[in-house]
Amino acid sequence: MQVLGIDIGGSGIKGAIVNTHTGELLTPRIRIATPSPSKPKRVARVVADIAQQLAWRGPIGIGFPAPIRDGVTLLAANVHHKWTGLDAKSLFNNMIGLPCYVLNDADAAGLAEMKFGAGRGRQGTVMIITIGTGLGTALFTDGYMVPNAEFGHLEINCEDAEYRASDAARKREKLSWKRWGKRFDRFLRRLELYLRPDLFILGGGISKKADKFMPYLTVEAEVVTAQLLNNAGIVGAALAVEQIGLVGEVVDSGEETD
Ligand code: BGC
Repeated sequence: MQVLGIDIGGSGIKGAIVNTHTGELLTPRIRIATPSPSKPKRVARVVADIAQQLAWRGPIGIGFPAPIRDGVTLLAANVHHKWTGLDAKSLFNNMIGLPCYVLNDADAAGLAEMKFGAGRGRQGTVMIITIGTGLGTALFTDGYMVPNAEFGHLEINCEDAEYRASDAARKREKLSWKRWGKRFDRFLRRLELYLRPDLFILGGGISKKADKFMPYLTVEAEVVTAQLLNNAGIVGAALAVEQIGLVGEVVDSGEETD
């Protein structure tokens, strides 16, 4: 199946058409800066623009940085407050005119890593952590996902974990790799205390620099970096559409879709 996967982040909105059987991107990845302020209609317009640039007429999977229930964005930690409690699915459907499915961005990345990346074939408890503007977490047990895990907002020393240990925090506070690594380790240790994962998969741009902070991680669980890097969110958003069986207009790509 071909699906347009969209990954909405704090700084950029990325999209590409994905082959959900192979996880391959069938088009170049388009990236547009997230509008500032990131009000709902402005963000939806960017998604519409990406669909138009790719001449897309089929279903769209959208990863969004908030917990999502029935298409409603429940929280707005790193986006405009107008997203809180908003029926995002209807907004995207109406503005783009194509069937859209909205899910949490870390859940999307997790789905992709479990199917095509570092979590492939892994049983037990696996936690995918996306490290960026926020700290996204996706929780899997024996391959099944528990959606909307929001462990990035665990309180550590009376502060939101993501405020202290996201990549944005590292940049904002100009932390050395050692200082940031120790903070991030504290977050992992807390997760280990509560969940005892067998595997942590670390994603987000920072995972490319894993050699700089891995030496400071002391958890017992295995820790690896994500394999799909920047594309996990896009691929996973597309996979989610396939999983729920959302059907859109037929794509006239000259190839058969199934
Ligand atoms: C949000 C999560 C999201 C994460 C990464 C957090 O602030 O609450 O839903 O997955 O950022 O974008």
